[in-house]
Amino acid sequence: MKKMKLAYLLPALALLVSCSKDDPNELNEIDGTETGVEIVETESMAEVANADVPGNVREMFFGGHKIPVEEFNGEYVYQGDILLPKDMVSEQEVQVVYERGEAPENKSVGRTSARWPDNTVYYAIDSNLDNKTRVYDAIKHWEAKTNIQFVERTSQSNYVYFVSGSGCSSYIGMIGGKQNITLSSSCSTGNTIHEIGHAIGLWHEQARVDRDNYITINYNNIQSGREHNFYTYAQQGFDGAEFTNALDFGSIMMYGSYSFSSNGQPTIVKKDGSTFNIQRSGLSTGDVTGINNMYPYSSGGGETQTEIYVNGETYYISGLTVLRYLDTWYFSTKYGYKRVELINDRWYWV
Ligand SMILES: [Zn+2]
Repeated sequence: MKKMKLAYLLPALALLVSCSKDDPNELNEIDGTETGVEIVETESMAEVANADVPGNVREMFFGGHKIPVEEFNGEYVYQGDILLPKDMVSEQEVQVVYERGEAPENKSVGRTSARWPDNTVYYAIDSNLDNKTRVYDAIKHWEAKTNIQFVERTSQSNYVYFVSGSGCSSYIGMIGGKQNITLSSSCSTGNTIHEIGHAIGLWHEQARVDRDNYITINYNNIQSGREHNFYTYAQQGFDGAEFTNALDFGSIMMYGSYSFSSNGQPTIVKKDGSTFNIQRSGLSTGDVTGINNMYPYSSGGGETQTEIYVNGETYYISGLTVLRYLDTWYFSTKYGYKRVELINDRWYWV
């Protein structure tokens, strides 16, 4: 029986997240994001899903190919006993492989996907960025506190690019290719530590799905049009996970009580109604715990923790049925097998 590796993609949204107003000028822009969610391993079963009553067989697109799919009790069944996730089966062909440089609109990233391989973030600093010391200090802080290392980019294709601009901003997670962390002159070392947090995959602390156990959001006090900054990542349709047990008021990723207030009244209070201060001096103990849970220490320098794929086997990964051959990936097209590569849960032609 052949194993299928299923990487689920959630519907994704373009998103603009503004960071806490308490961080001067901090603006966090995230767009064109991609969500590769959970890896589920499904072993096909010996039995067929519907032994007695044949379902309605239709030609549907799945994994980049048109295949006969049996509809049965509202489920799509393939090859007798493989259930296909409904949101991955479509009547129309959908683009599943892209040219390099093409930026699909619905790309999104989240905390459970788009991590940096080998705990290594490659980076470059724009020569015109002022006060580069804050970047070096922020990197030093991250390296001292976590399992993540930062390496100046030479020719790597995925890297963070520190550049000047308005506000402080970052994408969430490794999005593939060059991704900016924008720093205006008023962004501090602490703000830079925070933005690096986004780039390695952190949402804001108050975006936790369990945050309502700890805080109350006063939507009436939030500036009009800024409400989305107070949604959880799940409410926005993104993937994520909690890597610590509780909301950490001391997190460098936490908003303050008065962030985006329209009227001087608090927008976030503790459950007892009290307010709290934000800190941007460094990663908290809780931050460090969560980050190291996300990025466990990898010994043996550069060793990857990726799956072992067997040459000659076919897998279903990130929306595409692909063949492993000579340690690379191939997709069967009508013109024959063409080589593809997976970058941040998105397939590209090589
Ligand atoms: Zn932020």
